[in-house]
Amino acid sequence: MKIVIKIGTQSLLSEQGTPRESVFNALVEQIVHLKKDKHKIVLVSSGAVCLGRQVARHLLNKEYGSSIGEKQLLASLGQHELMGVYVSLFKQYGIAVSQVLLTKQDFETRKKYFNIKRIWEELFFNNRIIPIVNENDSVAIEELMFTDNDELSGLIASQIGADKLIILSNVEGVYAGPLTDKGPKLLPMIDPKTNWPTISISKSTHGRGGMFSKVNTARRVSAVGVTTHIAGAAHPHVLEEIVAGKQVGTVIPPSKKESSLKRWIACNGGHAEAAIIIDHKLCALLKNKSEEVSLLPVGIKSYTGRFKKGDIIKIMSLEGNTVGIGVARYGDKKLKEFLGQKNKSMFIHCDYLHVF
Ligand code: GLU
Repeated sequence: MKIVIKIGTQSLLSEQGTPRESVFNALVEQIVHLKKDKHKIVLVSSGAVCLGRQVARHLLNKEYGSSIGEKQLLASLGQHELMGVYVSLFKQYGIAVSQVLLTKQDFETRKKYFNIKRIWEELFFNNRIIPIVNENDSVAIEELMFTDNDELSGLIASQIGADKLIILSNVEGVYAGPLTDKGPKLLPMIDPKTNWPTISISKSTHGRGGMFSKVNTARRVSAVGVTTHIAGAAHPHVLEEIVAGKQVGTVIPPSKKESSLKRWIACNGGHAEAAIIIDHKLCALLKNKSEEVSLLPVGIKSYTGRFKKGDIIKIMSLEGNTVGIGVARYGDKKLKEFLGQKNKSMFIHCDYLHVF
């Protein structure tokens, strides 16, 4: 199986920012077992910024804040510390650690996307290497950053066509339901076609994500054929149990399978501002017929942002919901001329369209 495992800062580090040895040990041991069983693993690990803060506090006697520059600096101090912990643990099992640092722009164009895809293929050839990924926070541009490492892990899962994305967290899974005296209930499964629960947007103290972003990532990758598991990092043998098919945490199965081209489109997220707004008729057609429909200017009401031929742009309803994403066949200037008109050339071809 191809598996992407994501673990967050709060699971790995204590309140004071020191590594939780038991969590690191159990994680590494389980990955080693999975690798022995020939599973292909990518580990996405957070923790750099928090560890950097720890280094600054103890070695430099300096308390940094949370400005963009300070976080860039902290990430550069902490990333190698984080890798140092992994390197020393994996070394005991004869496994070499490969560090891959990525930014959102590395997924933007098809050329860049395939450039990264190449490294996974190379890495998977050698079972004695574990790739460990983090966002390249020291150079990432704030407005263009991943929401968090949940989003990054979803992109990688989609890119490699993973069977599973396992998101390890400091909670046991997704909780929902009324807040009774017994508390909300752990959902063993979310059916991607029917029961997406409403999740609050609250975030964790150290990490950037939260349950909202985990479920959002699960929704995205479910639509391209990946199964997501959200489970507690502290649960003993959590990874091995999930891979063995046992019920742990919350599972979100895929709603459909997509080609590699569509996986790239679906998980890319699109250019920050670029979107088209379509009318109710086209919206209903997309929802019914899904991806057999191509988008013509006649159903497009307006657009936002600047874009050119080949850019990935969002498709929004009049109510402001994102209904899909696709590759523009021409830029915003030409679309402006054609808006709402019949018999104008197609704007997004169905092969280059992904409906959520
Ligand atoms: N990349 C950040 C770090 O290593 C964490 C991002 C997140 O919280 O998801 O500190």
